[in-house]
Amino acid sequence: LDQARRGGGLVVHDLIEGEFDFDRSALARDLPRALRAGELFVQYQPKVHIRQQEVASAEALIRWQHPTRGLILPGDFISSAEKGGEIGELTIWTLKRVIADQQKLVRAGYDFPIFINISGVLLADAEFVAHACRIIRECDARIGFEITETAVIRDPEIALRHLQEIAAIGVPLAIDDYGAGLSSLAYLKQLPASELKIDKLFVTQLTSSNRDPLIVRSTIDLAHAMEMQVTAEGVETSAALALLGVMGCDLVQGYLISRPIGFDAFMTYLDEDAHLAATAVRRPSFAG
Ligand code: C2E
Ligand code: MG
Ligand code: MG
Ligand code: MG
Repeated sequence: LDQARRGGGLVVHDLIEGEFDFDRSALARDLPRALRAGELFVQYQPKVHIRQQEVASAEALIRWQHPTRGLILPGDFISSAEKGGEIGELTIWTLKRVIADQQKLVRAGYDFPIFINISGVLLADAEFVAHACRIIRECDARIGFEITETAVIRDPEIALRHLQEIAAIGVPLAIDDYGAGLSSLAYLKQLPASELKIDKLFVTQLTSSNRDPLIVRSTIDLAHAMEMQVTAEGVETSAALALLGVMGCDLVQGYLISRPIGFDAFMTYLDEDAHLAATAVRRPSFAG
């Protein structure tokens, strides 16, 4: 993945700010074509319940296999797609793709919610919200939303009303990247969310930093006091996993458990996991 990304040519452009902006908005403008050409695809990453040692849900992450640039990760086109207005079409495409994959999982006996990332900007968009809700209801799909605050929400009151409507049709909401960037205590105060995801910024160095464990522990306690489940993202070591378990964190997600993987590989992961659980043999990563 990293190699494909380095080969993508974006790193050099990043050095020149003007060109970098141009480059990204041009990429975003190319999205509708890329969607029709089948260049976008979704990878899945499990969120695993620490206590139960089972998959609680999964997160869908978008990727772009560009014909000349190679693999492009969402960090290189999502914020431009938010600014350029392509994000709505991209998110509806992702929602439909994920629902189709989920229907295959359900037929294979795996019934858990799959979360898609929803840009804050879309929450103020009544047309998007109505469209997404209609698709979810018509398909009777177990879809959750991870609310990512990459752009300022222009009308927070309308966004909040939309989130209440979304929650009311049974879509679980997770606050993503909590503690980083714009996502803040103001969110906790208002959003009807059932899950809080601690940003990987506080998790990847959990066992080598002095402050991160304090921040993570108090965030877990705060979320629990508000009756929310807590997910730690960016769990890369068994030492971090063990500490999160002691701190009472509910769910973990990260390279230690599984990298984001394509649908077929994800299905294989689930089958192997079910097999290991049935024979009471745990994956080494769960040994703590
Ligand atoms: P996110 O939702 O916070 O997703 C977590 C990111 O951390 C993903 O990067 C994932 O691949 C990465 N990650 C997972 N486990 C680990 C780990 O153990 N260590 C480290 N260092 N990283 C880990 P990715 O896939 O590049 O996505 C970046 C961001 O792009 C996402 O952050 C999300 O905000 C956004 N994004 C992804 N897909 C979509 C989408 O369909 N729509 C929207 N609006 N945004 C998306
Ligand atoms: Mg997310
Ligand atoms: Mg996140
Ligand atoms: Mg993140």
